[in-house]
Amino acid sequence: MAQGIGISTQSYAAWVRAALEMTTRLAMLSLALCSALAVPIATAAERPSFRRVDERRAAQVGIRKIVGRHLWLYTDLPASNAVDELPLVFDKAVQQWAAYFGVEKSRLTNWRMQGFLMQDRAKFAALGLMPEGRTDFVNGYAWDYELWLDEQPSDYYRRHLLLHEGTHGFMQTQLGGAGAGWYREGMAELLGTHCWEGANLTLASMPTSREEVPMWGRIKLVRNAYQAGEALTLGDVMAFNSREAMSTDQYAWCWAMCKFLDSHLQLREQFRQLPAYVADLKFNLRFRKLFRQDWEDLQFEWNVFLATLDYGYDARRMTISHTPAAVVEKEDTITVAADRGWQSTGWQLKAGQSYRISATGTYQIAKDSQPWPCEPGGVTLEYHEGQPMGMLLGLLRSDGEGRLPPPIAIGLQAVIKPAVDATLYLRVNDSPARLLDNKGKLQATIKPQ
Ligand SMILES: [Zn+2]
Repeated sequence: MAQGIGISTQSYAAWVRAALEMTTRLAMLSLALCSALAVPIATAAERPSFRRVDERRAAQVGIRKIVGRHLWLYTDLPASNAVDELPLVFDKAVQQWAAYFGVEKSRLTNWRMQGFLMQDRAKFAALGLMPEGRTDFVNGYAWDYELWLDEQPSDYYRRHLLLHEGTHGFMQTQLGGAGAGWYREGMAELLGTHCWEGANLTLASMPTSREEVPMWGRIKLVRNAYQAGEALTLGDVMAFNSREAMSTDQYAWCWAMCKFLDSHLQLREQFRQLPAYVADLKFNLRFRKLFRQDWEDLQFEWNVFLATLDYGYDARRMTISHTPAAVVEKEDTITVAADRGWQSTGWQLKAGQSYRISATGTYQIAKDSQPWPCEPGGVTLEYHEGQPMGMLLGLLRSDGEGRLPPPIAIGLQAVIKPAVDATLYLRVNDSPARLLDNKGKLQATIKPQ
């Protein structure tokens, strides 16, 4: 799912020449691809240039054309609802891309892409319809106003690929670039992940089950890596080589990073300033500056996100709110909401010192036909991550970007003796996808021993 360089030229032949020159120059200069993306773009008034398709010859080999407002799609696939509605899906996506990136509707009047959805690449190659110099792409490819897709075994993933490549085309031709590699592929994955139900399209959705998104697999890849101790830091993802095609694992990490930042209650606004810098050679530097104040919290939250990521992840309720921490000298009590993820207690614990944590209160941990009342010891009717649902858990946050320690089972009471200075975070044990039906709070008390 690579992306090419967007350019603005008068004719197709001229832009191919320019593009080839650009590619050669870039290879020699060993610049990051994101820098190559900072080239002039076509204005809305200009007509995009496409390769010409000889539709009579195409029809002779079974290639037909499906027309939408913003996409003309050529395919050798037989007619079916899932294939023939793709231009409609694309048209709906265009409205959402425009809203997300702040592109005025008037700029889209003549905006259109030309796509090729291929069962048999050879048929398209014979008619000169493959991308020059990039016939070896895997699954999908976008260049300027054109995109190419291999047929996929699931309706979901075929649409996903179209929306992924469409996001590249939209960003490139409307924003004039796509930022660093992680952002370029992360945004294509974020806005490619979707829900399509009854002709309603929702981009950037959080899939609620594996069955909803056959072949997508991003959550599983990230979770498996985390559990195997192979989680990447934000800096690792930012350092992905922009010039090389990414692996499926890398796509998953790019998606996770963009999803994490884009759904963060406090930081979303900062993240959504990034489209303004997509043509900036120093995109990653801009990104670091935007988040400089929050970088330490961000690393911690990123680890929490990776540790708890699951289908249906409720990003809003899982967003951590931070409070300045102070060393605990005497007994103190705080409240912990049952319908939220980790919450900072503001308690700084000293290494080697013992603290007794106790908790009281009744809250709702689930609701089916009736509410499930629960106390800090949890309910033993159901378990989550090996502990009773609703049980009070603790998490010690210390300095550094490393892997999180496992949560501490506190329940009604426990004694904690941290090995290093750390701030305590608390939450009740529940799936991050099932916080909506929780209600109420508990009181937690700390007392140095
Ligand atoms: Zn891509």
